[in-house]
Amino acid sequence: MMNIKKKVDRSIPVLIDKMGFILNPMILKFKSEKNQLLIFYFHGVYDSIQQKMERHVSPQNNVTKEQLSEFVQYFLLNNYQFISPKDLEKGVEEDKSYVMITFDDGYYNNIYSLPVLEEFQVPATFFITTKNLVTNSSYWWDVVYKYRTQEGACLKCVHDEQQYLKRFNHSDIDQYLLDNFGKDCFIPWSEVDRPMSIKELKRFANHELVTIGNHTHNHSILTKYTLKEAAEEFKKSNDILTEILGYSPNIMAFPNGNYSNSLVRMAYEAGFKYVFTTNSEINRLPLKKTKVILLNRFMAREISIHDYGSFSRLGYDGSLLYNSFKKKIKNLI
Ligand SMILES: [Zn+2]
Repeated sequence: MMNIKKKVDRSIPVLIDKMGFILNPMILKFKSEKNQLLIFYFHGVYDSIQQKMERHVSPQNNVTKEQLSEFVQYFLLNNYQFISPKDLEKGVEEDKSYVMITFDDGYYNNIYSLPVLEEFQVPATFFITTKNLVTNSSYWWDVVYKYRTQEGACLKCVHDEQQYLKRFNHSDIDQYLLDNFGKDCFIPWSEVDRPMSIKELKRFANHELVTIGNHTHNHSILTKYTLKEAAEEFKKSNDILTEILGYSPNIMAFPNGNYSNSLVRMAYEAGFKYVFTTNSEINRLPLKKTKVILLNRFMAREISIHDYGSFSRLGYDGSLLYNSFKKKIKNLI
């Protein structure tokens, strides 16, 4: 029998979401959305439904080109302006609503976003993991997903194994994959799961709507590393990107969203001006003028933006609201 507490923890957020779906449009008629910046992070883009069906990448809420287009149109229709980190640096006008698109990891399939960005003339930022880029190797979470799915494992089992592996450093994860899936396991299976090549990144980065950022060398969850090792991760990826791009990016996104105050300070020392987290919150403008500016990001979902856009515009969803309520109650007791 399912534990009652677990059942409540699961059903209350669903209930809040159901109510929000009805109430949000009414709230948004009266609530101002001025001076807010919503940043979303995506991972992969499918060129077609067939690519999605091939199951070569861990789902991670990846979207089709059509869903990305729908996402852009949704925010344009709601009077949001799409901006890049450069626009933020130059300074944005007051009393407006802004949205920013970011992609993590550096998949080749991110190139499929270009027709959408061009059609609506909206910018996007891409955070690159340089080890995969230079070695043309599959991302480790996709290796687990591809091989286990082929073996017939359930999605939850794959997810649990990926979560379990996140507690190790990158060389231990690599060894685990080699032991379990063989020496060829890092070879990508198709255009969908492979990273961009150096040549492709060079060309991609020259596109006027594209901004490139750092996502470490080994996609390291930096809080599990010593500060010296973390500094090496920044340096190595920065050196590689500088050689390819001709400049050192001043933006970075923490892999898996894990960071600490020391890591933020270190990011500043490594020359980053904006660091992107996965804290699901709205950024209020003007941003605090700190040495390095931390930006919150919402995860883009694989469902229609019409089903979750209003929640992001109000800065909540069922789980966020319920968890913060539980935290407040805990503090009171
Ligand atoms: Zn990542």
